[in-house]
Amino acid sequence: MSDALLTPQLIRLGCQPAGKEAAIREAGRMLADAGCIAPDYIDSLLRREAVANTYLGNGIAIPHGMVEDRAMVLRTGVAILQIPAGLEWNPGQRTHLLCAIAARSDDHLVLLRQLTRLLQDEARLLPLFSTRDSADLIAALEQPAETPQADVEAQDLDVRDEWRLDYPNGLHARPAALWVEAARRSPAQLQVRHGGRAADAKNLISLLQLGLRQGDLVAVSARGPQAEEGVRQLLKAMREASLAEQTAAAIAAQRAAGARKTAGWQPAGSLISLPGIAASPGLAIGTVRVLAGERLQVPDRPVSLADGGDRLHEALAATRQQLAELADSTQATLGAGEAGIFRAQAELLNDTDLITLSCQLMVAGHGVEWSWHQAVERLAEKISALGNPLLAARAADLRDVGRRVLFHLDPALQGSAPAEFGPDTLLLAADLSPSDTASLDLSRVKGLATAQGGPTAHTAILARTLGLPALVAAGAALLDVADGSPAILDGDAGRLYLNPGDADLASARAWQQRQLEDQQKQQAERQQPGQTADGKRIEIAANINRPDQAAAALDAGAEGVGLMRTEFLFLEREAAPDEEEQLRTYLAMQQALQGRPLIVRALDIGGDKQVPYLNLPHEDNPFLGMRGARLLLSRRELLEPQLRALYRAAKAGKPLSIMFPMISSLKEITRLKGLCEGVRKELDAPQVPIGIMVEVPAAALLADQFAPYVDFFSIGTNDLTQYALAMDRQHPELAAEADSLHPAVLRLIRQTVQGAAAHRRWVGVCGGIAGDPQGAAVLAGLGVDELSMSPHDIAAVKAMLRRHSHARLRELAEQALACDSAEEVRQLLEALA
Ligand code: PEP
Ligand code: MG
Repeated sequence: MSDALLTPQLIRLGCQPAGKEAAIREAGRMLADAGCIAPDYIDSLLRREAVANTYLGNGIAIPHGMVEDRAMVLRTGVAILQIPAGLEWNPGQRTHLLCAIAARSDDHLVLLRQLTRLLQDEARLLPLFSTRDSADLIAALEQPAETPQADVEAQDLDVRDEWRLDYPNGLHARPAALWVEAARRSPAQLQVRHGGRAADAKNLISLLQLGLRQGDLVAVSARGPQAEEGVRQLLKAMREASLAEQTAAAIAAQRAAGARKTAGWQPAGSLISLPGIAASPGLAIGTVRVLAGERLQVPDRPVSLADGGDRLHEALAATRQQLAELADSTQATLGAGEAGIFRAQAELLNDTDLITLSCQLMVAGHGVEWSWHQAVERLAEKISALGNPLLAARAADLRDVGRRVLFHLDPALQGSAPAEFGPDTLLLAADLSPSDTASLDLSRVKGLATAQGGPTAHTAILARTLGLPALVAAGAALLDVADGSPAILDGDAGRLYLNPGDADLASARAWQQRQLEDQQKQQAERQQPGQTADGKRIEIAANINRPDQAAAALDAGAEGVGLMRTEFLFLEREAAPDEEEQLRTYLAMQQALQGRPLIVRALDIGGDKQVPYLNLPHEDNPFLGMRGARLLLSRRELLEPQLRALYRAAKAGKPLSIMFPMISSLKEITRLKGLCEGVRKELDAPQVPIGIMVEVPAAALLADQFAPYVDFFSIGTNDLTQYALAMDRQHPELAAEADSLHPAVLRLIRQTVQGAAAHRRWVGVCGGIAGDPQGAAVLAGLGVDELSMSPHDIAAVKAMLRRHSHARLRELAEQALACDSAEEVRQLLEALA
């Protein structure tokens, strides 16, 4: 314990307070007088007493304030009242030493640990109740903790599981009491172990002695009757407490930071809430319905291989048919991109490993349902185990499609249909398959939250397209929310607020109404040109890939196409499109745009976009390997037909620019331009503007050197962010942090703009942040000339630009560049509303 924690000034011997409240107030005043707390924290000490019992046992009580009031703690300290005659704390509990704790972080855990040791050592403890020398108390409490080596290495009991403590303030008395309560409900012996130390889970003191901090891995184990259930229930209680702990800590952090106002909806009071990752915007109000993470119990009913084979064959055919119908209806309602999810799923049914393994299991004497299910699970697990988030999403697709086949084999396995949802349902699930998401009844389901998943998974994409507010990756605690709880799901903030009161419900409804009105206004004005309030023009273009998307993009307010990703012409097919097919596509796109600008990006294969028929060699690290321009230069048979098709399209006389992806050196630019010029001359085609994507930090840093050789730059912030921050853009756990508004990324953008301006070149941004209204505002402030985005985002971006002057955005951009985190930039931009 540090000297500052315990001083004679903070110890009062021989006290006789009139009651519990008087005692707490007296200790509180001592803390305030010593400069440890603001005087208001005394009320917080009393409030804590109303919600939790701070009596530790054996004559010691430890009042400590509410976590959310921690901003009132000025420095860590402990005030001790010695009450020789004892004071009734609760019926049957007499306090002789009152230790009022003011802790700025989890410092008080150190003291708690020391106190709990004393509790078990009556010979040392009892004299402290009546000593006349405060030095005795200081000595007892300052005695260093025993060294861990002194402990015998603890062993787990028979049934065990693990959990990582995620309470920001470590394990303190309140959550520990909840653990004890849960443990005592079990007849089994229950133990919690951290490292070499173990604690009896039914004993609060023993648990506190572990001194657990956030991030500590604990092993929960049990022995005796219902051991397994005991472990399960204890883990559930541990996770359930996370919610309250994290909310309290978040509120405390917000208060400490001066509680800035945010642009999104904010509850008036301190609601318990569960954080996740925002996946689809909007606010949904309703009643929670938890879809139990049903582990399918698939019976093993042996059949002859002939029968089993036939039944599997029929089920596969029926599933293919069902997926084709689902793809058609999805195409009609949501569009071709989303329909492709189900076409890709149908492909998975052709996997020979899957069929072979199912048959092998049937030959070994297992039933058809069981064998199929096992084969799907084994394959899915194998894929997930590779640790690649993209492949993990593929495993989810495999399980999704596997269940479809299983339900054809045995319809009884299907369980309850989603149609049973009540009105205004907020659906909570471990993960939801794309099939289930696409078939949700949106007249009933108003919001979606998943414990797993990431914002780039198919389910999240579908939710966005469906306009269904959603959050993902909220963790296992999500599934502990009580079915039927009223809640508000904030898809912008990625938060689920539980049990809101009338005032919060009313304000959420009012917010929804304002959003609706804003959207209607934005929609009405979407065809106005992109510009700031003082008339600075910012061209607003669309990211679309196929000519049949152009009409909708123009209708959404696009002034042209800033990014046509041509790799999508190559994906999900058996062979590359030839020159003629590509030419038809480019001509159709030009035609559909009726003379508006069109930027076609040359094939960007590699990284996350793999094309099986190209037989590219396996790379351990494909994002840092042969992708984009590097691949184009090494595979001329891919690039040349594309360039020929593009220059032939250019001869039709309508606007067209060519853009090259993943440029990192001048040599690549000059070589690619050389190839362009060769093709152009051969076809006697006109010159077209040639630009490059800025996706690698090297290109941003050298923009001034590249500028004389290119006609324009378009910044791909999706890749630029992953390379600048060393965070895989698909990584579900890093998604929230891989934010393109990180000041490091903004500085790279500014450097690009400055480098381009020196040679009078224009700069666009076609990464995802261009479609985020606040992101678009800061980009305009950084001097970007064009923003290209998903058509869906255009109306809101134009509205944001129209509301603010360019001077104001420039000023904001300067401030953003000076921030030290994306979080800080986002806070700054909240002022933009
Ligand atoms: C980018 O990286 O920001 C970009 C627009 O390219 P893609 O998302 O296709 O990699
Ligand atoms: Mg990219």
